[in-house]
Amino acid sequence: MTSQRTRNRMVDALAEQGIQNPDVLSALRQVPRHLFLDEALASRSYENTALPIGYGQTISQPWVVATMTQWLLQGGPVKRVLEIGTGSGYQTAILALLVDQVFTVERILPLSGKARQTLSALQLDNIEYSISDGHWGWADKAPFDAIISAASPNELPTELIEQLKVGGRLILPIGSEQQGLYGYEKTLSGVKKTKLADVLFVPMKQGVEV
Ligand code: SAH
Repeated sequence: MTSQRTRNRMVDALAEQGIQNPDVLSALRQVPRHLFLDEALASRSYENTALPIGYGQTISQPWVVATMTQWLLQGGPVKRVLEIGTGSGYQTAILALLVDQVFTVERILPLSGKARQTLSALQLDNIEYSISDGHWGWADKAPFDAIISAASPNELPTELIEQLKVGGRLILPIGSEQQGLYGYEKTLSGVKKTKLADVLFVPMKQGVEV
């Protein structure tokens, strides 16, 4: 159940659910999602669901990964992207195939280490890793063409907007019990905010865990 055929079936289903960007669909076909999960769960890797990855966290649902990535790319080509919440590294892998450089931040040390191993084994080398609290973005590497978060803060961290280039796009969930997925477009005249969906992500927590 971890074959290319199974993966293609998942991607065909996502295409029917409105994922149209051919580059995103191609990346989803390439990345072996089962390698980002424990063996016991590998047989479920190509179901369109979030699944546990330890430490109380989950690998994002494929539809969520596809929707967020597609929205980020709608603004044109993306060179440098900041990702908050490396988790298993699955979203990181999709991004690494589509942009020049991925800067990924995770607050739980062992998750970052494991993701790094998986991504190196896939020879995805255009990724830099940081163990830190994503509320602060990654100032040393800013500005970014795009920013994506898989963890939900209670409100938009201002650092993230500051670290975004003019013309750049930011997508993230906001809220605790009631969450929305929001897209922000930064222009010379200001920031345009769009609500894209109702969602359920893990919370963006404070500090780091080693
Ligand atoms: N895209 C990942 C999603 C993992 S879940 C995947 O598909 O595997 C979200 C991740 O965000 C978790 O690993 C969690 O530890 C991390 N996270 C939560 N708060 C954070 C913060 N303040 N800074 C960085 N990462 C955070």
